[in-house]
Amino acid sequence: MSFIQFDNVTKYYNRSATPAVDQLNLEILEGEIITLLGPSGCGKTTTLRMLAGFEQPTKGKIQIGDEVVYDERRSLPPEKRGIGMVFQDYALFPHLTIEKNVTFGLNKWKTRDKKKRAQEVLELVGLGEFGHRLPSELSGGQQQRVALARALAPKPKVILMDEPFSNLDAGLREKMRYDVTNILRKAKATAIIVTHDQKDAFAVSDRVVVMNEGIIQQIAAPREMYRCPKNCFVAQFVGKTNLISGTLCPDLKHVETHIGRVCLPQQSDKTIDNVMVSIRPEGCRLAEEGRYAGMVERVTYSGEYQEVHVRLQSDQPSNEPMVIYAPIEQDIEIGSVVTFDITPELVALVD
Ligand code: ATP
Repeated sequence: MSFIQFDNVTKYYNRSATPAVDQLNLEILEGEIITLLGPSGCGKTTTLRMLAGFEQPTKGKIQIGDEVVYDERRSLPPEKRGIGMVFQDYALFPHLTIEKNVTFGLNKWKTRDKKKRAQEVLELVGLGEFGHRLPSELSGGQQQRVALARALAPKPKVILMDEPFSNLDAGLREKMRYDVTNILRKAKATAIIVTHDQKDAFAVSDRVVVMNEGIIQQIAAPREMYRCPKNCFVAQFVGKTNLISGTLCPDLKHVETHIGRVCLPQQSDKTIDNVMVSIRPEGCRLAEEGRYAGMVERVTYSGEYQEVHVRLQSDQPSNEPMVIYAPIEQDIEIGSVVTFDITPELVALVD
């Protein structure tokens, strides 16, 4: 049973000829952490704001639990939707203590209950001792946890987070991905997170929704999305890949391409012959007597691996070189001839 449901939700902003969100259908389960992932302007924030009630859809229906919060007949105001929101800049009140920030949305509660709830949520986010401090006396990561505690305090049905990690430096960002997921799980929250960063999305979500130009491109668990992207956009947006056109062989298990015959992880169910394959760079292994051969054109060190660009003998000038990830201990000279193999599990047919 879905807990949040978008039915054919479309949003046109004033005078815009193209919709910001186009016929969006999405079902989210109770307790699920979902990420809306996509490039700037793809409609992620609009989707989040329509769920929160800050923006009205042009068409469609939105349901939370068994309550319709938006359709052509009614629009429930934001404060009645049972939603806790964490903003990108945390939006903490600088002159209020952490405890007062956290109890801000609890104005109808008794003072004693407010204090007890503040302590509960601050302990949940690991800041039980920090209630008396001001926001300026906390680090970025701690401030974010306060913002999350404040959103959780009124026991909302749903938590929404808009770009929660974008203000954090790389090291803290990794820690906060883990902390935020843990807190949301402990609170048994249903959460929707907006991000344009694939690593954020993969690290925190049960399922990822990739959007482009207002349209959902794919909904899948991170692993499935990486290994079986549905189309070229998703394949490229969730990681590096080699996109190569080819012809599906009659056995439906191989594709004939300019680099040679590429094996698929399983038989395809496609009915057309002209297809596109996505081959992940980590699915290519340099090997002594590999099946494919080419000349090394470029090597870039990333610290964790080396990105090797290999120009195949069969390449036309218009073909991109193959991108291959190789272990850093391997010596690879520019201009040398190398051979490599491809792991079928990291090959996918894409639309
Ligand atoms: P970003 O990651 O940059 O925040 P996004 O994916 O969240 O982008 P939205 O903010 O939802 O995208 O915007 C979707 C489209 O709607 C964009 O083309 C944007 O210019 C347009 N848009 C957003 N807000 C408004 C508004 N208030 N008035 C008019 N157009 C808007």
